[in-house]
Amino acid sequence: MQKKFILQEKELPTQWYNIQADMVNKPMPLLNPATRKPMTPEDMYPIFCEECARQELDMENAWIDIPEEVQERYKFYRSTPLVRAYALEKALDTPAHIYFKNESACPLGSHKINSAIPQCYYCKQEGTTNVTTETGAGQWGMALSYAAKIFGLEAAVYQVRITMRQKPYRSILMRTYGAQVTGSPSMSTRAGKDILTNDPSHPGSLGTAISEAIELAKSTPNCKYTLGSVLSHVTLHQTIIGLEAEKQMEMAGEYPDIVIGCFGGGSNFGGISFPFMRHNILEGKTTEFIAAEPASCPKLTRGVFGYDFGDEAGYTPLLPMFTLGHDFKPANIHAGGLRYHGAGVVVSQLIKDKMMHGVDIPQLESFEAGMLFARTEGILPAPESCHAIAAAVREANKCKESGEQKVILFNLSGHGLIDMPSYDQYLSGDLMNYTLSDEDITRFTERLPQV
Ligand SMILES: *Cc1c(COP(=O)(O)O)cnc(C)c1O
Repeated sequence: MQKKFILQEKELPTQWYNIQADMVNKPMPLLNPATRKPMTPEDMYPIFCEECARQELDMENAWIDIPEEVQERYKFYRSTPLVRAYALEKALDTPAHIYFKNESACPLGSHKINSAIPQCYYCKQEGTTNVTTETGAGQWGMALSYAAKIFGLEAAVYQVRITMRQKPYRSILMRTYGAQVTGSPSMSTRAGKDILTNDPSHPGSLGTAISEAIELAKSTPNCKYTLGSVLSHVTLHQTIIGLEAEKQMEMAGEYPDIVIGCFGGGSNFGGISFPFMRHNILEGKTTEFIAAEPASCPKLTRGVFGYDFGDEAGYTPLLPMFTLGHDFKPANIHAGGLRYHGAGVVVSQLIKDKMMHGVDIPQLESFEAGMLFARTEGILPAPESCHAIAAAVREANKCKESGEQKVILFNLSGHGLIDMPSYDQYLSGDLMNYTLSDEDITRFTERLPQV
């Protein structure tokens, strides 16, 4: 019984998969926040590097070459293993076959590096000297700090204040890789000042930190903004996960009936899903795709579909997406990477077209699943990834009831070794579930921008 499947370096994918080219219903256009007209790549150049802007809006090319230098850097750690979770299956006493793609084996412990490397590579190619970004739990900030160092760029990171306190080691790691880290909201930008004057104890949110980073990019020469999730070019880079998984599942002699990822902005979920979704679109396969989001930030299951900003201050393009409203204040759950109000436009369109769907997972259920995974498969999952595991456990339990032997594949987006305060609180019984009433939600979704 083979436990794990690994690709040789020469078998690694040399192209990313751009699902936008194959989608029957294309995503609606991004809108320029100033003119409310469809964005062109040129509209995005002041903030984003040009190649990423082109990739963002590319509806033509299904396959995008991975630059050779990026392929060389991917070889430092790819492929990540595809693992059959025999021990978890046994503990659940399920007939289902459970596989996970172990992105926790990436340097710095999460999938984020898969997009940080190409983004910094393109910035360097285009003559940029500085990059800036936001980070929630700190995973993206760490990945970007490392990638910036590889390509000789200076990195400035705005980290959400509450997670800076919950996960202090991540800011230390970012500084280890040479980045400058600022807690957000901060007094260093207008967006941050506006928020702090209203609410000095504001815990921060990804939406606010994005506003601050964009403001810095706009006001600093030779500085570009980079994003760790949500936008389509980020998910494009993350398709390396699913493209490898496709080959590895073939080695295992199976094909997934269900593909699952946890959901913050959609990059790891889209990354593992889109290469399999391609076969649903082109060949009529019937794989089910499940995005696992926290019950306290339920944009996919309880949000609305409409145009909204990606950030709190309204600097980003208007994105057609499932959203809870750009000033939604998520509860301080430990899965910091999932505390985001909106969903990427491609996943949003596919969910609108009923080709994928979301499930919401309460915080305690996510940690219970994470504990079970740690005690069976041995890897301590990131609190974000616990949501994917919980969704996989739900599906495996359904198989136990029905007797079906489904093949379940989930993405283990990261490990939790720097998230020990969260596990400490869980083990001490200090963690709780947060519930949102319908009124809590409509209070924010009623305020979407008019387009
Ligand atoms: C950032 C992060 C996520 C959420 O981001 P997506 O873009 O939705 O993938 C999930 N898991 C981990 C470990 C993360 O670092």
